[in-house]
Amino acid sequence: MVVGVAPSSARDAGAAVSAAAPFDPAITVATDALDMLADRAQSAAPAHRYVIVTDDHVGPLYARRVVASFGAHRPVDVLTVPHGEAAKTRATWARLTDELLALGCGRDTTIVALGGGVVGDLAGFVAATYMRGIPIIQVPTTLLAMIDAAIGGKTAVDTPAGKNLVGAFHPAAAVVVDPSVLGTLPARELRAGVAEAIKHGVIADAGYFARIEADLPRLLAPGGAASPAMAALIAGSIAIKSAVVAADSREHGRRKILNFGHTIGHAVETASGFTLLHGEAVAIGMATECRLAELSGTAVCGITEQLCAALDKAELPTVAPPELDGEALVRLTHADKKARAGVVEYALPHTIGEMAGADTGWTVALPDAFVREALA
Ligand code: NAD
Repeated sequence: MVVGVAPSSARDAGAAVSAAAPFDPAITVATDALDMLADRAQSAAPAHRYVIVTDDHVGPLYARRVVASFGAHRPVDVLTVPHGEAAKTRATWARLTDELLALGCGRDTTIVALGGGVVGDLAGFVAATYMRGIPIIQVPTTLLAMIDAAIGGKTAVDTPAGKNLVGAFHPAAAVVVDPSVLGTLPARELRAGVAEAIKHGVIADAGYFARIEADLPRLLAPGGAASPAMAALIAGSIAIKSAVVAADSREHGRRKILNFGHTIGHAVETASGFTLLHGEAVAIGMATECRLAELSGTAVCGITEQLCAALDKAELPTVAPPELDGEALVRLTHADKKARAGVVEYALPHTIGEMAGADTGWTVALPDAFVREALA
């Protein structure tokens, strides 16, 4: 994946968020980008038919605008799934693929994923597998999906054994980010997205971490979704994630650092029955994995305190809810895709802005005893 600046067409249309950030050229960030989606889709993934996959929150808000951008020239269908993590299953994947077959969609179809990370992961896995793979355009509508889930080509569904256990790498032909849609996103969802931005600071850039922490009052204030601070966060996080993915698209090495907070986070998210949002579970996962890093001597002393100060300011949780059984969480960590020969491997920080494990494939294998202590 080549990293470059956004194509001029993206920057010229509407108020582009950042012309300077090193974006993957497939990524467009522009206010009102939804209204020019059809142009972007037709140049990046020309197709006979476009099928928009969305959820029952986002569809009523934005699907009509996206359909309108295509005009009368192409068949455009809209398939709607229930909102929320509970819909990210093999059953919903089967329903969507059956609906595509019923519509008569061939390999000359492009999927447009319009929604948060759940829609993006689900529609992405449908696109990866339908007729052995058809193109997808990602149109993320949550902060978390704009800065993380839609970038990097990972698609998946959950199973009762754990999150994202069945999936595929299927990079989007284009990612179209319209920050103005954050205006309708609930505040709790916005904060959950900030968790992934804080993660980007921890794994790659101490200056970015400090800047987000300083900007938190502006980011979370009423109107914060449309603030220059939010524009800087979107540009900064996309740049960090794109650069990591560009160097290791299949996660053979350094891309694993993006999993910081996710081994414990996925366990907590699953054990909570998805009452915790993904970003909230990742916040708990990052704080717990920082404790792990300190306990095991992987990280410098004080990093957990530093991280938790930022998470507290973002009004994000830092400890697992007491009603979650610690042993169940330990068991769930073993479903993690980084586990090798029964030992769970963690992506851990050394200090803010620098990850540990450069000489061990960017993960650190740790026995469960450390995890029990960090959770306690
Ligand atoms: P989500 O997709 O469930 O969206 C959150 C809620 O906000 C939903 O109810 C949705 O309907 C609603 N919503 C979305 N956009 C809206 C808008 N503009 N206005 C009003 N409501 C809106 O959750 P999420 O946090 O976006 O994504 C979490 C998922 O992303 C998890 O399944 C996680 O595993 C996945 N993820 C994937 C990757 C990846 O690399 N593929 C990375 C991070 C997270």
